[in-house]
Order: sequence, then C-alpha cells, then structure tokens
Amino acid sequence: MSNKYVGAHTSASGGVFNAAVNAKKIGAQAFALFTKNQRQWAAKELDEETIEKFKEAIAEAGIEPKHILPHDSYLINLGHPEEEARQKSLEAFIDEVQRCALLGLDRLNFHPGSHLKKISEEECLDRIAEAMNITLRQTKGVALVLENTAGQGSNLGWKFEHLAHIIDRIEDKSRVGVCLDTCHMFTAGYDIRTREAYDVTMAQFENIVGFKYLMGMHLNDSKPDLGSHVDRHECLGKGKIGLEAFRFIMNDKRMDDIPLILETIDESIWAEEIRLLYSLEEK
Ligand SMILES: [Zn+2]
Ligand SMILES: [Zn+2]
Repeated sequence: MSNKYVGAHTSASGGVFNAAVNAKKIGAQAFALFTKNQRQWAAKELDEETIEKFKEAIAEAGIEPKHILPHDSYLINLGHPEEEARQKSLEAFIDEVQRCALLGLDRLNFHPGSHLKKISEEECLDRIAEAMNITLRQTKGVALVLENTAGQGSNLGWKFEHLAHIIDRIEDKSRVGVCLDTCHMFTAGYDIRTREAYDVTMAQFENIVGFKYLMGMHLNDSKPDLGSHVDRHECLGKGKIGLEAFRFIMNDKRMDDIPLILETIDESIWAEEIRLLYSLEEK
C-alpha cells in the first residue's frame, strides 16, 4: 500500500459532493475543491441535504477528510491595507472555515495576502496573522493552511521566512499549517529540479518553517522559469521543473499521509498524471 494520497482540484459544479464524485472518476486518493464560487463574495448556506450528500460521496470514493484540501476564494486578502476591505475578507474567511467544519473537513488552504504596495511586508504579514488569530478564536476544528505563493505582484508568502513570520504569531499552533505548491516554490526561486537542489530547498523549508506544519502539497509543473515570480502552472514533465522533482516527492516520507493535489492545466489527463505519479514510487 502506498502512503501517498494523490488527487486533483476537481470541479464542485452542481454541488460540493460532485468534487468527490469527480475525484473518484479519475482514480484520485485525495482532492481539493472550492466549497463556494471562488470568484464571488456571497454563497448559499450549506444545507443538511448537501452536507449529507458530501459525506456519502467521500465515503463512496474512499477518501478521508484529512486527504481533502478545500481552497478558499480568490477574493479574500487577509493582509489588505485598508480596514474596510480587510474586514470584508475576514468575514468571508470565517465563513469559509465554517463551511469546511460543516462538511467535516479539518483544513482550509489559502493564499496569505497582498500588501498592494500600500504597507510594508512586515505590517502585511502581521495583519494576516492577526486575522488568522481572530478566525481561530471564532471557529473550531479546522486548521488554516498557508499556501506558499509565486510572489507575483505584491503577494506575500513566497519566501519561507514569510510563512515562518506568520506561524510565529499564531496563538494556537495546533491549527496552522502549510501547503507547498511546487510551481509557486520554483518560480519564487526555490530549485527542486535535481537531487541536490531538492535536498537543499527542503532542508531550508525544514529549518525555516518545519515539516511538522506541512498539511498538503500542490503538484504542478511550471511554464515560467526559476525565480520569475510568475504563477503559471503546466502539466507534469512538460514545464521548466520536469519530472524528476515529482519522483523525489513521491519517494519522500515527509509527504506521506497528506493531500498531494494536481492543479495542472489539462484536466482531461489528470487520471493519467495520477497514475504517472504513483508509477514514480520506488517500491
Ligand atoms: Zn492556491
Ligand atoms: Zn496552488
């Protein structure tokens, strides 16, 4: 039995349960989803029937809650420099966490936030941590999982130090985690293409953040080059990272028992990419 849980960010169109149905169709052992439309602020509340159908669908797919990595809305910016906008983000974020809790899920993946060139990096990171602390006090059972970013525009979270800065300020460290996106890591300047580069990057992650916080990964190849700070995903083995990095991950025990999620650009080959990843495991 493999200890790797590989899947993809599947469509929840027509209802959250469809993400599980779609995951099963492609042979996924994990999946990610948006629990509401990711480009809108408002959403219909999750009713009992939908929650029940979701729980049935994940049981049917044989996927445990800890291998499901919901992603929050793209509109949310917990580090927003303006108070009114940040408040709106905070309220939407708390709602996202509550939706996860209702679905029986234990983690929510999100992008830390952006300073929009109006406040310093440090001030923005402090705001993000403060919003997370408020959220943690008002909710239960769901860990807040910071995704590393490519550092496009004024997005923070591309340096491991940014993630460490935030985690350091979180009051309840049992409910904070990290999701490493390989494309974002690479375009942020962390090389993982060779055994040597991979080991150096992962040792940096261990020293600065710590693998104990790793609660998920996004497995994406990258269209842009190392350190370009441009966020454009590519199919596995077709981008600038190449397949070897994914072989290292599939054979790295530190990535056991967490959701490993494809966000690659051609969903018609996700089933193939999942099989490809499992074939890289050395038995
Ligand atoms: Zn993301
Ligand atoms: Zn990602």
